[in-house]
Amino acid sequence: MTTDLDSSAKLRPDLDCAPPHTRPRPSGTSREEETPDTLSGPLADARAQLADAIEILGLDDGVYSMLAHPRREMTVSVPLRRDDGEIELLVGHRVQHNVSRGPGKGGLRYSKDVTLDEVRALAMWMTWKCALVDVPYGGAKGGVRFDPKLYSRDEVQRVTRRYTSEIIPIIGPTQDIPAPDMGTDEQVMAWMMDTYSASLGHTVLGVTTGKPLELGGSLGRPTATSLGVAHVALAALSYLGRRPSGTTVAVQGFGKVGRGAARFLREAGVKVVAVCDEYGAVFNADGLCLPELEAHSAATGSVLGFKGGEELENSDALLYLDVDVLVPAAIEGVLHAGNADRVRASLIVEGANGPTTPAADEIFRAAGTLVIPDILANAGGVIVSYFEWVQANQAYWWSQTDVENRLRERMERAWNRVLEYAALHDISLRSAATVLAVDTVTTAHLTRGLYP
Ligand code: GLU
Repeated sequence: MTTDLDSSAKLRPDLDCAPPHTRPRPSGTSREEETPDTLSGPLADARAQLADAIEILGLDDGVYSMLAHPRREMTVSVPLRRDDGEIELLVGHRVQHNVSRGPGKGGLRYSKDVTLDEVRALAMWMTWKCALVDVPYGGAKGGVRFDPKLYSRDEVQRVTRRYTSEIIPIIGPTQDIPAPDMGTDEQVMAWMMDTYSASLGHTVLGVTTGKPLELGGSLGRPTATSLGVAHVALAALSYLGRRPSGTTVAVQGFGKVGRGAARFLREAGVKVVAVCDEYGAVFNADGLCLPELEAHSAATGSVLGFKGGEELENSDALLYLDVDVLVPAAIEGVLHAGNADRVRASLIVEGANGPTTPAADEIFRAAGTLVIPDILANAGGVIVSYFEWVQANQAYWWSQTDVENRLRERMERAWNRVLEYAALHDISLRSAATVLAVDTVTTAHLTRGLYP
């Protein structure tokens, strides 16, 4: 990058005095060939959110360009020997969006839909998330394009170890710390940690988070994201003057995040009337019996066919149910210009990363629908990843109660901060959260200064 950020950028402007500003575009950079301005999808959404925050903060195009592009990225070939001896070539990425506040941090995704632009967007959202909840990291993300459900466990292990060995030069407990995301789990983190440690000749527990307990994992990490989702959902209900009992929720996605969020909300008295996975949706107006549904899903691989509810015509139908709260906890871009006006929930809590496009955000704002943005709502995972990293680095382990109390404290603090800022400046919770995060990251960046 050639932009002289030191001389051109404004630090912490007075919002009321910010000059009229045209929405910044990444013009003038030498990297435009990477991603055209006309692109769509998660990266376009992430950049539009960034542009809004930059405009509100009165920062200039140089800062926009710096934050719209990743600091460093690596694309690797991942040759896999299948169990039948055939060789298949997969592709993997690791993107470090920003490291101004500390090492890169973010999950590793295994999905057939992984693209470099998606990983770039997810890495950017990690930067904002870490800054917003004040964990000392930048943002990063990784992905390998394959569907792990179609491969044996041994094959997934070989993919993980080969991918890890390819990205070893750029990861490490002070460089970039992967964690689970869609399609990956504790075991994958253990394989990554082992591969990294084997290459160094000693065990390095702090290189990944979301590991099994017996390998330096933290109590409370598996449920951290979903518990955080429940904390902010309950805080928002209280802000809206609603009691959990008498409130209904529909949860899109019955993976790690959706399943846990449904369970914690149910425990708080909220009625979980519908859940879906990629195969279909089930609905019960009296509330679904979640332990039975979890057992059914574990046994069959889907919520479909569950006897304790009726099947909806498809997974999308869940989004338009007459419920109070909608928790999208699956993938990006599910709420968009083409369907946002059909959503009837008055509160949306983003368990997934990037489920709402900017166009849908505008529709929700006009309709008075409150959207708790991903970088706040699902930050519980990275908060407890931070706790795990701290514990691993100190080789001193906390109790589950300690972890969960500190998690709740941080989630509530972030919620209050975002709510106050949004009210003060009459902007959406997403704009407030992004502005606060971008301001934190920009301040760190500018205070460090541009080298050389
Ligand atoms: N993949 C999770 C996320 O999107 C967790 C990241 C982490 O713990 O580093 O927030």
